[in-house]
Amino acid sequence: MEQNHRFNMWYVLAAIWGVILLQNLIFDHLRPQIIPYSEFIKAVSDGKVVEVAIGQDKISGKMHDKDGHEILFTTVRVETDLSQRLAEHGVKFSGRVENTFFTALLSWLIPIFIFFGIWYLLMRKMQGGQAGIMNFGKNKAKIIGEKDIETRFNDVAGADEAKEELREIVDYLAKPQIYLEVGGQMPKGVLLVGPPGTGKTLIARAVAGEAGVPFFSMSGSDFVEMFVGMGAARVRDLFVQARDKAPCIIFIDELDAIGKARGAGGITGGHDEREQTLNQLLVEMDGFDTQKGIIIMAATNRPEVLDPALLRSGRFDRQVLIDKPDVNGRRAILDIHAKKVKLDDDVNLEIIAQKTAGFSGADLANVINEAALLAVRNSRKKVSILDLDEAVDRIIGGLEKKNRVINQEEKKIVAYHEVGHALVASLTPGCEPVHKISIIPRGLAALGYTQQRPTEDRYLMSEKELLAKIDVLLGGRVAEEITFGSVTTGAGNDLMRATDIARAIIVEYGMGKTLGLSTYPRQRSPVFLQQDQHGGGRDYSDETAAKIDLETKEILDERNSQVKDLLQQKQHLLVAIAEKLLEKEVLFEDEFMAMVNGN
Ligand code: ADP
Ligand code: MG
Ligand code: ZN
Repeated sequence: MEQNHRFNMWYVLAAIWGVILLQNLIFDHLRPQIIPYSEFIKAVSDGKVVEVAIGQDKISGKMHDKDGHEILFTTVRVETDLSQRLAEHGVKFSGRVENTFFTALLSWLIPIFIFFGIWYLLMRKMQGGQAGIMNFGKNKAKIIGEKDIETRFNDVAGADEAKEELREIVDYLAKPQIYLEVGGQMPKGVLLVGPPGTGKTLIARAVAGEAGVPFFSMSGSDFVEMFVGMGAARVRDLFVQARDKAPCIIFIDELDAIGKARGAGGITGGHDEREQTLNQLLVEMDGFDTQKGIIIMAATNRPEVLDPALLRSGRFDRQVLIDKPDVNGRRAILDIHAKKVKLDDDVNLEIIAQKTAGFSGADLANVINEAALLAVRNSRKKVSILDLDEAVDRIIGGLEKKNRVINQEEKKIVAYHEVGHALVASLTPGCEPVHKISIIPRGLAALGYTQQRPTEDRYLMSEKELLAKIDVLLGGRVAEEITFGSVTTGAGNDLMRATDIARAIIVEYGMGKTLGLSTYPRQRSPVFLQQDQHGGGRDYSDETAAKIDLETKEILDERNSQVKDLLQQKQHLLVAIAEKLLEKEVLFEDEFMAMVNGN
């Protein structure tokens, strides 16, 4: 916005320059020529002077120049008595009382008027027609809602669940009165959560496009201004503008830039500005009701850093997850972007989709674009499969540095590992049903995951259920072991959690042999107060500790051999489902259970 001001200064300079130029053009030939007195006398003698008006100290009049054109002239009067000479040469002459007052006044007034005129116009423009001149926060926050957005849900592929959830919002924005009549309450804020490049910005635009409402968008990083109070002023202005244009969508991209938990500044502090902006956003969100037909959408790829106040009910209480696409999603995204380039007839995008596990929508758009560039470089008229292959390799090269792509061998191990978890869960009584198995890498840590679906809220657990949990955790590692004859580091986290549960059974819940009913719940002292692992924070003897360790190991060994037996019995299922998962990358409850039950 700083830029805008400089831009306006240029306008002023241009206007002044224009006025000067114009003056020169228009008045040039009207302006009398100043000539020396001697020349004037000579002209009189030569009979060239037609008429003169004689003032106190200036003489002006008309004369013929050497081409015979009539021109205006003035000269400074030197002689006191001219009349005789003039009469001699037959010049028409008259006296003149000089009144310089008005010309002087005009020469002052006109520039002042022009100056004020320009200034006034500029001010009005900057204010956007608002009264008040010192309202600077306002100028800087000028936000214009985009109308007639062309993006539609069809432009977003592979995010079917998200689209389904957002369809309700579209419907509401398109016809708010119907919802109002029934009395339904719309969510105020919808938070789009997902890894970078998965199409969050795109889908937000698509919502506005589908509903046909204006789209006010700002990026969180835009809000963070140099001067204190600007960010808050912008938020205020954003909402003022949006209220005028309702129904509409306010979209705040990269919400984490302003929405970080307050007080997270640490010792350096100095985040007052961001805090003020965030507070203003909270105030504005509380200050209007959805009856007006305004929906606030925001996007972030780091929901965990957001201030909890933002996620409270009445604010961004609805979250829509947009995950990396699976094979089918990738295929659909490739199809969308491939429409923009010319493809060879023998190109099979299915193969490209299979090769690009872990790619986001933006990565895939990039593949197509890169392939088109390669085709041009190889002087081909159409994009061939070779170009696409090379483009994929290049982008994998870039992504590998960020650890987001796994190779085929690893993918296979991950698939068996996850199906191991899932199979044990489905075959052990007392386990929550498997909701989803995925081997699409998520960020740095998890290469795959198995999601279980709690069937009810549970506050109590029996020993059996705790052991079943351990079984499920061990299932991944066991599946690797019986399939490949070796295990990988991927099971590390599972083992840690399994060990925790086994210890808790003994130490916290009094279900073990060693301690009987005496329990020693773990002390939750802050990390930096803890001594080394064997020292403080423990109030039983070393002997007891050794026994606990032994019993923990016994439990885990016992469970491990149980799970091994189970999975060896069901190895045909393990293989069949893991291969299916490798192919589809995501399996949902119904498909999975159908295979477990042998259909
Ligand atoms: P995000 O906001 O989640 O980081 P963007 O919406 O900015 O991602 O996506 C960047 C680009 O990637 C989009 O403009 C689009 O071209 C492409 N893209 C991402 N996801 C999809 C998708 N699901 N379908 C089609 N194109 C997508
Ligand atoms: Mg974005
Ligand atoms: Zn695991």
